[in-house]
Amino acid sequence: MTAPTSAPGENLKINGQRLWDSLMEMAKIGPGVAGGNNRQTVTDEDGEGRALFQTWCEAAGCTMGLDQMGNMFARREGTDPDALPVYMGSHLDTQPTGGKYDGVLGVLSGLEVVRTLNDLNIRTKHPIVVTNFTNEEGTRFAPAMLSSGVFAGIHTQDWAYDRTDAEGLKFGDELRRIGWRGEEEVGARKMHAFFELHIEQGPILEAEGKEIGVVTHGQGLSWTQVTITGRESHTGSTPMPLRRNAGLGMARVLELVDEIAWSHKPHAVGAAGHIDVFPNSRNVIPGKAQFTIDFRSPDLAVIEDMEKRLREGAQKICDDMGLTVEFEKVGGFDPVTFDETCVSAVRNAAERLGLTHMDLISGAGHDACWINRVAPTAMIMCPCVDGLSHNEAEEISPEWAAAGTNVLFHAVVETAIIQD
Ligand SMILES: [Zn+2]
Repeated sequence: MTAPTSAPGENLKINGQRLWDSLMEMAKIGPGVAGGNNRQTVTDEDGEGRALFQTWCEAAGCTMGLDQMGNMFARREGTDPDALPVYMGSHLDTQPTGGKYDGVLGVLSGLEVVRTLNDLNIRTKHPIVVTNFTNEEGTRFAPAMLSSGVFAGIHTQDWAYDRTDAEGLKFGDELRRIGWRGEEEVGARKMHAFFELHIEQGPILEAEGKEIGVVTHGQGLSWTQVTITGRESHTGSTPMPLRRNAGLGMARVLELVDEIAWSHKPHAVGAAGHIDVFPNSRNVIPGKAQFTIDFRSPDLAVIEDMEKRLREGAQKICDDMGLTVEFEKVGGFDPVTFDETCVSAVRNAAERLGLTHMDLISGAGHDACWINRVAPTAMIMCPCVDGLSHNEAEEISPEWAAAGTNVLFHAVVETAIIQD
């Protein structure tokens, strides 16, 4: 006779010290040059990190699944063989000069949840699976979130295998070389729900003094490449009225970009991170300027409005200056709205545990953003010092890690349903 209870008691907690020790142990693999990590995807170090993770999972009684993209799935059985598993996880790969927590916390907190369930002798109706997604960072093989993207049907597997690194090596070949190309069909697994704990990688939670970010949305992104053409001419001998200065046109368009983003405060942002002027010579008025506008917002209608106003406004600026302008959309993805039930499970868990929390929008992409396309998904964030990430100096406190993992534990166990 099983009587499902919806939530674990608030006194049930994970082991923060064991979690921290595991984080420090994993960080010994692929050490960086400045206290962080260089454990890039499908390198020997990645293979070593995976092996350690598998050893830990098996010691905790899980069985490991491995798919053809090298995604790892450590499964703890539930009591109902027909129930879909509740998944949690993130990624073990790092930037070349990465931190010890970006991604890693999301995987090892999942392991800590399983270890805690074992300690407390808790059985759940749904199986629980801890996941490590291959190549989230996308530094060695672009794009980011490559394998969760294949899992969610965003990219084909053949296309992913053909991605090359700076030395011309292919992702699929390297995955096989390190021994982590599995047999399982990618994306065949069905999920009851997916939860990802991640460090914020931004300054908001620390500044607001909150322990937990309840992530409700992920920012959408739009990249538009703008090319402005004028006429190259001598900076000294060309009279002002006769200049067709593409650089000046770009400056005015960039002012407009800033104005457009501010008009949709507080969540929209806009900037040009990539700028080229031609010929880029001290005494030549630029004849061409090429730059990429990056607009982001959690609201698709806002992104579309920003794109439209950019095109109309830049066209007018350039017409008035005797310049021509062309636009090309070179990238983007739609905003993510996480699953209401999963988000509530996270918020309720933080509430039940007496942790300070606030709703948050993820400014960066995460595996959860792709998995949200195929399963009910939510994210939990914990603060990081000065909002610093993708840097070896990335730092969090053991208390923050434990608080985030306790919320993950409660949200997952509530979703997987405790059995008597
Ligand atoms: Zn990450």
